[in-house]
Amino acid sequence: MKVEHIKALLSWDQETGAPPLSMQERSEQSELLSSLYYQKATAEGVKEAVSSLCEDDGTCLEDKALIRRWKKYYRTEAMLPETLVSRYAREVSMGQSLWEEAKAKNDYRIFQPQLETLVSLAREKAAIIGKGEKPYDALLDLYEDGMTVRKLDSLFASLAPVVQKLVSAIEEHPPIDDGFLRIPYDVPKLQGFLSWISGCMGFDTQRGGVGVSAHPFTITLGVDDVRITNRFSDPSIFDAIASQIHETGHAIYDQGASTNGKIRGTSLGAGVSMGIHESQSRLWENFLGRSKDFWIFAYPELQKAVTGLKDVSLGQFVLAINKVGRSAIRTNADELTYNLHIILRYELEKKLIDGSLAVKDAAEAWNSMSSMVLGYRPKDYGEGILQDCHWAGGDFGYFPTYVLGNFYAAAFLEQMKKEFDVASALSHGRFSEITRWQNEHIWQKGGILLPEQLCYEATGHVLDAGPFTRYLENKFSNL
Ligand code: ZN
Repeated sequence: MKVEHIKALLSWDQETGAPPLSMQERSEQSELLSSLYYQKATAEGVKEAVSSLCEDDGTCLEDKALIRRWKKYYRTEAMLPETLVSRYAREVSMGQSLWEEAKAKNDYRIFQPQLETLVSLAREKAAIIGKGEKPYDALLDLYEDGMTVRKLDSLFASLAPVVQKLVSAIEEHPPIDDGFLRIPYDVPKLQGFLSWISGCMGFDTQRGGVGVSAHPFTITLGVDDVRITNRFSDPSIFDAIASQIHETGHAIYDQGASTNGKIRGTSLGAGVSMGIHESQSRLWENFLGRSKDFWIFAYPELQKAVTGLKDVSLGQFVLAINKVGRSAIRTNADELTYNLHIILRYELEKKLIDGSLAVKDAAEAWNSMSSMVLGYRPKDYGEGILQDCHWAGGDFGYFPTYVLGNFYAAAFLEQMKKEFDVASALSHGRFSEITRWQNEHIWQKGGILLPEQLCYEATGHVLDAGPFTRYLENKFSNL
């Protein structure tokens, strides 16, 4: 863990203020730490010890989970030949700069040959790891243990029509005015409000801190050091508010996991998967942080920090932060249509990896699928295939974890509501009733249980689309 944390510290510094000319040496330093980690993790004694064990040799749940985790490492990342790993790193760094150029010039042809290379490397990686029925399964499993195309197809097939129907129904209503969210504001005052909100959620500043970066993120630098960032460059004040709540949701998960003495400082002492991590951030950002109950408590404080909201009523504010509309850019999408953006990417990735969609046809496929799934046809490549950096970064199989987070969050919230009065806890600012439940059922488990097992133990049900579609129908039919 220590090598990983040192590497994280380098990247925190890189994102939050390192001077431009430090980048070259910084990337060499990072590469050195990656290879140190690989050497330590695959050292003869360690590798032999892990391969001689099976999960059942563990005498307690924690030991079994550690064995499972390390066996997975040897079955996946450590299986990849060094030539493939270094080629991947090279092509990804080239991919980033070609993607930036293509995006700036709005010309997909600049990026297309590199995307071809990256897709073929991802397929090569999937073939070597080779777990699951389909090559794409191997990539999904890297981000979310046990996730498969079969499971996602079924979850998304239940979700898409519900979202599409709700969006069409909302379009029948008169448009909502949210112009007052894009007003000038005093950044230090808003930061003061945001620190207060993070504190109410239980973010421990003795064991973490907040910085500013171009894109908000959460990063763990040590068992007692979890950092988050925010940005104040977007014209809407709610961008900074939503980001702070989202990242705090991630941070309190990792802070909570490392307070379990049995797993603290081990590779189990953090969030278990991308999907469960997103469930913790999205639960707070959307399910709770866009609810009227949350703002009954927090809105008077926000009005003190942002004087331009003085004459905006609580009702107007809550409507504005829940405004729905079909639009091009995923990161600016509302809570409802966001899901369709992810389904679009998932369908395309699946086809790119199984070879049924050629990279040269992907830009057009993006546009026509966007019309079909989202009801919006991108006007140019920047609104279409070039909008996200994930593929340029060689990340295939990662996008679905965003919506998986929504499925998990809805299941957790439904269960919480059976056990206590969540609305009253929110509107009276007793957030600790909610975080106590999260801590007991999710954070303290760290990486001990697999994601689906964790969900089952916390809720008594296997994951299905029911809680999330019920939540969306209930919320967006009644706004
Ligand atoms: Zn997140």
